[in-house]
Amino acid sequence: MNVITTPADLRLCAQEAHAKGQTIALVPTMGYFHAGHEDLIRHGRSIADLLIVSLFVNPTQFGPAEDLDRYPRDHERDSQIAKNLGCDVLFMPDPPDMYPKDFATWVEVPSMSKLLCGAARPIHFRGVCTVLTKLFNLSAADFAVFGEKDWQQQAIVKRMVKDLNIPINIQTRPTVRESDGLALSSRNVYLSKEERLQAPNIYAGLKWAQNLVSQGERNVEIIRSGLLNRWASQIPLGRLDYLTVVDPASLTPISTIEGPAVMACAIRLGTTRLIDNIMLNA
Ligand code: AMP
Repeated sequence: MNVITTPADLRLCAQEAHAKGQTIALVPTMGYFHAGHEDLIRHGRSIADLLIVSLFVNPTQFGPAEDLDRYPRDHERDSQIAKNLGCDVLFMPDPPDMYPKDFATWVEVPSMSKLLCGAARPIHFRGVCTVLTKLFNLSAADFAVFGEKDWQQQAIVKRMVKDLNIPINIQTRPTVRESDGLALSSRNVYLSKEERLQAPNIYAGLKWAQNLVSQGERNVEIIRSGLLNRWASQIPLGRLDYLTVVDPASLTPISTIEGPAVMACAIRLGTTRLIDNIMLNA
């Protein structure tokens, strides 16, 4: 596995691969790998000749009061995992190489980045879109692989790629979970023992809502208030950030379920903000 740290070297590597007629898959990550990342990496490995995994804790997607400094990191372990999974190139740039002092350009999808997670994290998706545009350009990847756990992120990335005619195919993978249903997240390590015990009730509640819909309930407010009641007793340590039902592609809020819909939530448990989502099909 080739470890690359500069944008110029990544560009060169991608140019050489394309010159040889190879296809390229990119798996963008912030590291501290878990089985969710591993699934994306395995998928990336299976769809292209050259697999690039990027590992970059992107400072521009963190707000001033967020966890950029304490975000968990273990580059050595991550490198070993990437190598074992057949990654060809691990791209680990330093922030000043991605954002030099005179950096002045931002990419944003305003209509999709202010709701759901964007309400509490107003600059988050601007940072995500900007760094991904840079990674897509530098890697010249034919494919990029994202997790459905971050539903809003993959929807925004698909919109951005379409709107800006970026020649890349965005692929998504289902959320990988612990055996008790908790969605894997690098941030789960922040949870106290008590918080960890309550956390699986997030997904259990989403499945309960999905079941209500399959039994015929279509009114989002009824489903929502039922779920909030459940969570109030089952996740007493939780503080709701949002629980919203949206159109899977446009992220427009939905009040009556008539077709495909995604129920997405963010809940704070102590200092940890957990997100999850589920598809509700009428
Ligand atoms: P992160 O390192 O948290 O920025 O995540 C990198 C990629 O892994 C993103 O595309 C996430 O959606 C994806 N991801 C994170 N958690 C999971 C999970 N539990 N299952 C599947 N993909 C995930």
